[in-house]
Amino acid sequence: MLNYRTHLADMPSYDVTEREWRIKINANESNLNLPPVVEDRLMGRLSRVAFNRYPNEEYDALREQIAAANNCAKENILLASGSSEIIEKLFYGFGGINHKILYPEPSFSMYRIYAKAAEADGVPVALNDDYTFNAAKFVAAANDNTVALAVVCNPNNPTGTGIPLADIKYVADNTECALLLDEAYMEFFSADNSALNLLPTHKNLIVARTFSKAYGLAAVRVGYMIADADIVAAIEKTFMPYHLNVLSTVTADIVYQMRDEFAPRISQAIAERKRMAAALSNLNGFTVYPSETNFLLVHYDKAVALNECLTQRGIGIRSFGNAPRLSNCLRISVGQRTENDEVLRVIKEFTEV
Ligand SMILES: *Cc1c(COP(=O)(O)O)cnc(C)c1O
Repeated sequence: MLNYRTHLADMPSYDVTEREWRIKINANESNLNLPPVVEDRLMGRLSRVAFNRYPNEEYDALREQIAAANNCAKENILLASGSSEIIEKLFYGFGGINHKILYPEPSFSMYRIYAKAAEADGVPVALNDDYTFNAAKFVAAANDNTVALAVVCNPNNPTGTGIPLADIKYVADNTECALLLDEAYMEFFSADNSALNLLPTHKNLIVARTFSKAYGLAAVRVGYMIADADIVAAIEKTFMPYHLNVLSTVTADIVYQMRDEFAPRISQAIAERKRMAAALSNLNGFTVYPSETNFLLVHYDKAVALNECLTQRGIGIRSFGNAPRLSNCLRISVGQRTENDEVLRVIKEFTEV
């Protein structure tokens, strides 16, 4: 018998098997490939890559660029293969036996899995009934000296809920453990609500960002965290040398330089989200939760059958099975306008039979 690590057998897995969707709105990806001007510059840059060298300068150049845009130093930035890897390494770095890691529920399902992988005690803290964030309850749970890391996802996936900066500040003011803000969708909310505003005054704060959503680089896998230099140095030790490949690094570098090119599509996604939310909330039996992201969470009693109907038509959305507090909920990412029109038409037809 093979001798795997203890608990590996009962580790849950995150199922990413996919079929070919005609309309793919199940993973909160950008519905558009790179803007042509960005792609042109990127192709030129890729042709100058030194494939024979371990990547070092490229890594530092991107760190410096992100640091400059955020009024901090490159020592405050850690890049990784998606913010997933940032989160995983933070859970590893703060986890271990008898360390608690706190996160809201319902929220990103990977938190529970990373906690388990890090052999930490994952502690879910319930959101309010309407999925808004309960800052007082979260602080009460965090003020247990075995909590090493507390995670808040803002705006929250899969509920879409935005948390006002005042609530985040209340949590940061009243906790001493490391506090991670997963801001994967912050570009769809507002920079005013970002915990980046609190970094200069709160040394225990860590902000994670990704290129996978608003900047449409899901294929490239780049994310980063911004935090106190001591936290960055500690978590950096959990990575292998040269951990981010040069192709991903230079791609993210060009996209970051040209990030203004993405503003129109971010606005477009927000406008389409609002249009979808209004249309869906007019349908009989639909509850549409307020969203500050590029997706909507809806509750519908016949969610399972509706999902089946959409699947048959090649439309991939996300259903949550029997995940805690998400039964009969569906998450629908914002697609292109014509895709959204078709999705709305199919859903409307379903509700009328
Ligand atoms: C998509 C997502 C991420 C991670 O995305 P990466 O592609 O790994 O950068 C992290 N947190 C949340 C809440 C997400 O939805």
